[in-house]
Amino acid sequence: MTEEAAPSQRIAAALRERIAREGAIPLPVFMIEALFDPVAGYYATKDPIGAGADFITAPEISQMFGELLGLWAAEAWAGLGAPSPVQLIELGPGKGTMMADMLRAGRAATGFTEAARVTLIEASAALKMVQAKTLAASTASLGWADGLERAAPGPALIFGNEFLDCLPVRQAVKAEGRWRERCVALDPEAPERFAFVLGPVLTDEDFIPETLRDAPDGSLAEMRPGDLQVVDALAARFARHPGHALFIDYGPAKPEPGDTLQAIRAHEKVDPLDAPGTADLTARVDFGTLARAASLAGLQVHGPKPQGAFLTGLGIEQRAAMLARARPEARERIARQLHRLTAADEMGDLFKAICLSSPGAPPPPGLDPWTA
Ligand code: SAH
Repeated sequence: MTEEAAPSQRIAAALRERIAREGAIPLPVFMIEALFDPVAGYYATKDPIGAGADFITAPEISQMFGELLGLWAAEAWAGLGAPSPVQLIELGPGKGTMMADMLRAGRAATGFTEAARVTLIEASAALKMVQAKTLAASTASLGWADGLERAAPGPALIFGNEFLDCLPVRQAVKAEGRWRERCVALDPEAPERFAFVLGPVLTDEDFIPETLRDAPDGSLAEMRPGDLQVVDALAARFARHPGHALFIDYGPAKPEPGDTLQAIRAHEKVDPLDAPGTADLTARVDFGTLARAASLAGLQVHGPKPQGAFLTGLGIEQRAAMLARARPEARERIARQLHRLTAADEMGDLFKAICLSSPGAPPPPGLDPWTA
């Protein structure tokens, strides 16, 4: 049956068979299949990022985003003592646009791009090809690695924009005083469709953010095991080699209850369980839990700081004014881009920057120490 299904139906068919065989599956299993199945998964099959595609990200909105991060990187590098080489690592680089803009802007700092060894960590074969093309003109040394653990050792600056939000999320629902795993099963009324059901009682309730643990019946809490794996990998690396890891993503500064799983297809929100593999699935990053986990793992934590304030502090308004002077015909477009990236009712408040650093590293530019 799986072999005969149309490409867009392949994942649904395989998941239906699996559920029929094994029973309800936890949400992360559904997400991993839908996003990363090597043949029919969402990220395997297409390049989803851009104005004409499913969703758009900050580096695709404006070159200013990557340029400011390039200047941030050069300053952070100088703070580390200008090591050469320095590993410039990006997690989930999408089209490679941010890295290209970073490298171009980083040329302003003497020696930085010459010292940089770029490593991209990307799950999607289709996007790796796009990245190679975007970065073909760059003179920096460039390669790919399968996971942070496989990246070259040494001092590092690590970046992830909208990377954490697509790591699989677990959900739990409080019922009769117990937290139960939220799972995906077949809809008994319409077995070709998927539906959420309550699965087993959690045996690892301590993964529920502490402030949510005593929530009343009916509450939903999310757990982000993927974020914790990233923290562990960073802690292992930064125990031996100095560096900073800057993440920018969407989510609250403190844990909040509620279902934040969302599916986006062609810039529209759709049902996350409908036609798996054909929509992007993400959930909000819980910056409070991420910061606490990183701090407990021995990392220094700066931020989270709202994206608007972060970019303004790095000089995005000056950069916009400079670009508008150089290209007066693009003035309105640049003003619109600035607004989208920084305004509170656009990306300015919901998106946040957080930096996790090696013990003893000097503070990263533009962010204040985290306070619990
Ligand atoms: N940073 C880019 C793309 C964001 S979309 C931008 O801002 O435009 C998320 C990216 O993370 C995609 O490139 C996706 O393929 C990649 N990705 C998601 N999960 C991953 C994983 N576990 N390992 C490596 N890359 C992953």
